[in-house]
Amino acid sequence: METKRDRKAWLAGGSAQCNLPPHKNKTPLRLVLLGAPGVGKGTQAEMLCDNLGTCHLSTGDIFRAAKALEPCQRTPALTAALEYMRRGDLVPDETVLALVTERIGCLHCEGGFLLDGFPRTVAQAEALNNLLEAEDLQLDAVLSYDLPIEQVVARLSGRRTCADCKAVFHIAARPPKTPEVCDHCNGKLYQREDDRPESIRVRMEAYERSTAPLADFYRRRNLLVSIPAEGSAEEIFQRTLDSLLVKA
Ligand code: AMP
Repeated sequence: METKRDRKAWLAGGSAQCNLPPHKNKTPLRLVLLGAPGVGKGTQAEMLCDNLGTCHLSTGDIFRAAKALEPCQRTPALTAALEYMRRGDLVPDETVLALVTERIGCLHCEGGFLLDGFPRTVAQAEALNNLLEAEDLQLDAVLSYDLPIEQVVARLSGRRTCADCKAVFHIAARPPKTPEVCDHCNGKLYQREDDRPESIRVRMEAYERSTAPLADFYRRRNLLVSIPAEGSAEEIFQRTLDSLLVKA
C-alpha cells in the first residue's frame, strides 16, 4: 500500500509544499471522478489513493480548509466562495479556476492525481483541458459513478466527515467503530453544513443543471468510464479497478 500524500500544496495553495518523499509510481494515473454528491466518490477517492498512491485533489476540500481559517486570512474571493458553498450553490467558475491554476504544480504530482469535484461545469472542463494541454499532461480516464437519486439523498444525509483528517463515514453503511469518532485519527466526526436537507436539494439541482452534461463532454472524448455505484464501498472499488484495467 502506498503512503497517503499530506496534500499541503493542494489545501493551502501558494508556495506550500507536501511533506512526503517523492513517489515511485512508474505510471501515475491521472483521473477525474464524476458523480452526484453522495454517490460515494469521496470514499472511492480515498480507496484509490490508498491503493494506487494517487493524490486526492478535491476542490471542496480547498473550501473546507479555507473555512477553518480566521476570516482575515481569507481572500475576499474565498470569503464569497464560502457563502455560495454554505447555500449548497456552485462557486463561480472564475474563482474555482483561479484556485486550481494557483495549484498547477499538483497536476504534475509524481503519484498522479484524482480530481474530485472539479470540473463541475462544461466551462471548467474546457478550462481544465486547456490547463492540461499547456502543461503537456493527459487524463487517463474520467470515472462516472451512477446512482438513482433516492439512494443519493439517503447517502448524503447519513454522511459524517472527520474534522481533522477528512475521512468519510456513514451512520448506516460505513459506521465508525466508536460513534462520532474517526477510526483513523480519533478526530471528531461532524455533518457537513451542505449535507443538511435544505442544502442537499440545492446541490442536486446544481448537479443536474451543471455537472450531468460533463458525462457527454468526456464521452465524446472517449474518456468516460461509467461505474454503477450500488453496493458496498468495496464492491464499487472492485468495479472501479476492473474498469480501469479494461480502459488501460
Ligand atoms: P464537494 O465537497 O465537492 O461536494 O464540494 C462542496 C461545495 O464546494 C460545493 O457544493 C460547491 O459549493 C463548492 N465547490 C467545490 N468544487 C466546486 C467546483 N468545481 N465548482 C463550483 N463549486 C465547487
